[in-house]
Amino acid sequence: MHEMSIAIPLVEQLQALAAEHNAARVEALTVAAGVMRQVVPEALVVAFEVAAAETCAAGASLTVESVPLAARCRQCGRQFEPSIDSFVCDRCNQADVEIIDGNDIVLTSVTFQQADDEDQPG
Ligand SMILES: [Zn+2]
Repeated sequence: MHEMSIAIPLVEQLQALAAEHNAARVEALTVAAGVMRQVVPEALVVAFEVAAAETCAAGASLTVESVPLAARCRQCGRQFEPSIDSFVCDRCNQADVEIIDGNDIVLTSVTFQQADDEDQPG
C-alpha cells in the first residue's frame, strides 16, 4: 500500500515532535499532499490509523489537503498548472519544465495534547 510508506514516516515525525514539545498525545494534524504523489486521502487516513496505533498519535484526527501541481517553464519562465500526464508549456509548447509545487507530502499543522492540561485547547 503506497499510503503506508507515507504514513509510517509521518508517525515517526509526530513522535519526534511530541517528544520535543513534551506532549502526551497528538490530537490532530493536517498534511498537504501534492497531487504528483497521487495520495488517496481516505487511504492515507486508514494507513495513518494503522501506523499510529499504540503511539502518541493513536486516534489523532488527520486532515489531508490536496496541493495542486505547479510548474515553471525553463524556456519562457511561465508558471502554470500542468495536468498530471502532460508537462508541455501552454505558451511555448516546450516540455522543459521544473516542478515547483505539488510534489511533496508536508505536515502543515499539529495539535498536541499536553499531559497536565488535558481540557485546554491548543
Ligand atoms: Zn514556455
